[in-house]
Amino acid sequence: MQRTLFRRGALLAQKAAVEVSLLPMSAPIQPRLDRAMSSVTIPPPECMLRPLEVPFRYLFGPGPSNVPPRVLAAGGRGIIGHLHPEMYEIMNDIKKGIQYAFQTQNNMTIAMSGSGHAAMECAVFNTVEPGESVLVAVNGIWGERVAEIAERMGANVHIMVKAPGGVFSNGEIEKALAKHKPVLFFLTHGESSAGLAHPVDGIGDLCRKHNTLFLVDTVASLGASPIFMDQQNIDILYTGSQKALNAPPGTAPISFNERACQKMFNRKTKPVSYLFDMAHLSNYWGNDGQPGLEESWRHHREVAGYLWKGLEDMGLKLFIQNKDLRLPSVTTIAIPEGYNWREMLQYIMKHHNMEMTGGLGPSTGMVSVRGMLKF
Ligand code: PMP
Repeated sequence: MQRTLFRRGALLAQKAAVEVSLLPMSAPIQPRLDRAMSSVTIPPPECMLRPLEVPFRYLFGPGPSNVPPRVLAAGGRGIIGHLHPEMYEIMNDIKKGIQYAFQTQNNMTIAMSGSGHAAMECAVFNTVEPGESVLVAVNGIWGERVAEIAERMGANVHIMVKAPGGVFSNGEIEKALAKHKPVLFFLTHGESSAGLAHPVDGIGDLCRKHNTLFLVDTVASLGASPIFMDQQNIDILYTGSQKALNAPPGTAPISFNERACQKMFNRKTKPVSYLFDMAHLSNYWGNDGQPGLEESWRHHREVAGYLWKGLEDMGLKLFIQNKDLRLPSVTTIAIPEGYNWREMLQYIMKHHNMEMTGGLGPSTGMVSVRGMLKF
């Protein structure tokens, strides 16, 4: 519902923008605009008049990687609006793809706009509040980077340091968890600055024991080295698109499990970044609310109850008197005595553009029927 309202608001805003731009201009404004348009002092640059050239290169560094023709072709498709229904379908498909690649069933799974750094900041900003303790395993540049990100947002950062490529034992990690009691522990799975695939097994369990969220960076490893988010009890996992996934840079898949969501959505302070605030992002991706049958039943019941009350307050009688026996998706209204049901339905259609029917088979003429809108 919230998502629907959000989209509706955005649609209205779009519409308003178009309408404003179509307004006739008042006479004094027009000459001013003409002058403004003819007064550019910086000419169009030469390079903008040349076709873009990009040489072919074999990309054998730690990303970006060459992109297969199928993926490149997808990028050449036409643009559609970010609020179009087809866009939401594509986003849902992307989400399923990420869930597969991460081996997770987490509903809170999205592809952020931005590079791997965007996901790093998103993970830390949303799960940590200023003053909270964060533990970072530093054995290359990416741990250093996350420690700095956490420090900048005011976290109380503790680091465990090894030389580049060093491996932290589970015993060492547990000792540090017990000492610093962090809300978040960060580890790089694929440390690209050292070429190390750090073992992950068992660390998620230790983090649970110490009430810590386990955050893992797989920017350089996802798709190349096995990772099982759910089985390995990883609470937050992110990656980048331009490495082993062989896609262009610019999106960063990220997933939060239930524990991470609990922490993230029960904060006292707002995350320092608006753009990366998961409250907004999850709304846009349709991840807020509880998807599923039970939620759909509850939602229908709630909206039907609202409709029933409104109808009864108007003095109408509902055909099924026992509330518990009413079908939430179809509401039947008893035809008030002395009224012609056909005339009533025509009136409603003519004046309110609302289609209602007049019963079906044996109930024809006894009730008028209003189906529920689906949300
Ligand atoms: N983490 C790791 C392990 C990486 O290798 C990289 C990029 N080399 C990043 C994070 C940052 O990703 P990006 O360059 O896409 O911002």
